[in-house]
This record gives sequence, structure tokens and C-alpha cells, in this order.
Amino acid sequence: MAARILDGTKVAAEIRAEIAAQAKALALLGLRPGLAVVLVGHNPASEVYVRGKVKSSEEVGLYSEQHTPAVSATTEELLALIADLNRRDEIDGILVQLPLPAHVDAKKILLAVDPAKDVDGFHPMNVGYLSTQRPGLVPCTPAGVMEILKRSAIPVAAQEAVVVGRSDIVGKPMALLLMHANATVTICHSKTRDLPATVRRADLVVAAMGRPAMITPDYIRPGATVIDVGINRVTDPSQAEKFFANFPARLAEFRAKGTALVGDVHPDVAGVAGALTPVPGGVGPLTIAVLMSNTVKAARLRRGLRTTAAAVQR
Ligand code: NAP
Repeated sequence: MAARILDGTKVAAEIRAEIAAQAKALALLGLRPGLAVVLVGHNPASEVYVRGKVKSSEEVGLYSEQHTPAVSATTEELLALIADLNRRDEIDGILVQLPLPAHVDAKKILLAVDPAKDVDGFHPMNVGYLSTQRPGLVPCTPAGVMEILKRSAIPVAAQEAVVVGRSDIVGKPMALLLMHANATVTICHSKTRDLPATVRRADLVVAAMGRPAMITPDYIRPGATVIDVGINRVTDPSQAEKFFANFPARLAEFRAKGTALVGDVHPDVAGVAGALTPVPGGVGPLTIAVLMSNTVKAARLRRGLRTTAAAVQR
């Protein structure tokens, strides 16, 4: 059986089109939601992500600006920048690209972001809102997973869901969102006893460990839905041979480029799962689409406008 491939690029394009329509409607009210992205120092991977976020904002009609303090910026200097962005009315969303340099107190910086502008949903106030199901800003990646499930008509209510990974950014909010959608949720981590047997119970698996291709077909109950959040860059040819042995086109592409992206789920899982998100082209594109949606949602919430027209409902 070959899994149905859940196309994140297509779902993200749908969401972006909805946001563009909302941005047009808000423009008639004289409102252009604005996103400020803060990128400290030079981290090539972060620079790619930030470019994608700024480009995407412009494409859907949002205002965006980028702040690039030097790697030597102190916690105090960054707090001053955040305070300024908090004050400016035309800025609705503030995103501080992680990781921050080691000498910066990252927790202090994230805590300083006005919760009403915290489009990453990392502020403890938004974590509390999510936990207690009040309107707030929800972390983009897990919210994106809920969108791809909903828009692919994958049932969640009353399903056995297993989330592998318990980070604040992905695993924990993912588990809460699935529970709020009435799944029965198990959270696994590095100390879980007999991980394969636990994951095999699942109708729905979300893998977010940062361990390339760790979830192999023996972890998966035939027909289960598998959501692969992992993004890992593979450069070791012997690893690539193992991961892509049954995918000659991907192996050929790796040999040509010397690098490939692989998720936390082994590509061979496509032979046993009922539905699967690919890497790349699965959860990744949704994260940016939800960031756009969160910026519009923040703009509406801050002005007391209803958010029922938002593309991403929570
Ligand atoms: P993280 O903060 O490093 O957390 C990893 C989690 O996985 C931890 O809870 C850890 O358990 C668990 N884990 C690690 N090894 C394990 C093992 N062998 N067995 C069971 N559990 C294990 O990572 P993250 O930030 O959540 O990111 C996870 C993955 O998602 C990464 O590949 C990242 O690149 C990707 N990601 C993708 C997007 C996207 O847009 N698609 C966004 C964010 C992250 P302990 O708590 O016990 O240490």
C-alpha cells in the first residue's frame, strides 16, 4: 500500500491566498498588518528562513521589516529594540529568530515581546491561553499541522495520537492542540520505554525529534497517518544510501547535489502509512503560512476586530 502524500506546499498556498484576501479587506479599513523580524548576527540557515518570511509577507500584502543587530548585540540592546517594536502601532507581529547568540538571555528577550504581538506564540501568556483554550497566538508549526489535517479531511476526534518530542515549540503545543481537537494523546520523548510499541498504537503520529529518519516502518500501524515535522540536512553518502535505497530519484538527486533534506520519519514509511507528509514540501511551508495568518490575527485582536474570518481558526 502506498501512503497518500499530504501536499503541504498546496495547503500553504491555499492559506496564503485566504490571507491575501483578508489583507485586501483590511486595507479598505486603512489597516495593513505589519511583521517585524529580528535576526541577530549571521546564521546562514536563519538568514534563509528570515528571507522566506519577509518575502512571504510581501506576497500576501502584509507590511514587513527586518532588524539585523550585530552578533555582538547585548541583551539590553535587544530589549531596547523589542520595547521600540512593542510601542509602534504599525507593527502587529514581532518574531525573534532563534537561536540567539549564547551571550544573550533568550528567555528574557522572548518574555519582553508584547504577548499581543507574539506571532510565534512562545510567550508564557500565550502558552497559558493555548492551555486554557482562550483566544491567543498559537505556535506556527503545530498550528500548521492542524491545518493540513483539517484541510486533508484526516479525522482527529477520538483518534489515538502519539506525539514524539516534547519541546515548547513543537511537541507540547502539538499535544495540546490534538487534545483540544478530542484526540487521545500520548507524548513520547527520549526516556519513553519501548518507543516503537507506543508509536504503533497510534492512528496519528507526529514526529518532532530532530533525529533523521528515526521512525522506521516497524513503528507504524498499517494505515496510520504520519506527520513528519523533522527537517534534517543529510550530507553523509552512507546515510543517504540507507534512507533513499528505495527512492532512486532522491538518491540520484543527493549524488548530484551532495546534500538532501530528510525528516524524522524514514522515507520507507510511505509503504505502510495511510497518509504521510513529505520532507521537503510537508509541514515546512505551513509554518510560514501560519506565521502570516498569526500576524493578521494579531492585527485584528489588537484592534478588537473579530477573528472569525481568519484563515486559520483556533
Ligand atoms: P528539540 O527542542 O530538540 O526537541 C526534541 C524532542 O525530541 C525532545 O523532547 C527530545 O526528548 C525528543 N527526542 C530526541 N531524541 C529522541 C529519541 N531518540 N526518542 C524519543 N524522543 C526523542 O526539537 P524541536 O525544536 O521540537 O524540533 C524537532 C524537529 O522539528 C527538528 O528536526 C526541527 O528541525 C524540526 N522543526 C521543523 C519545523 C518546521 O517548520 N517544519 C519547525 C520547528 C522544528 P527529551 O525532551 O527527552 O530530550
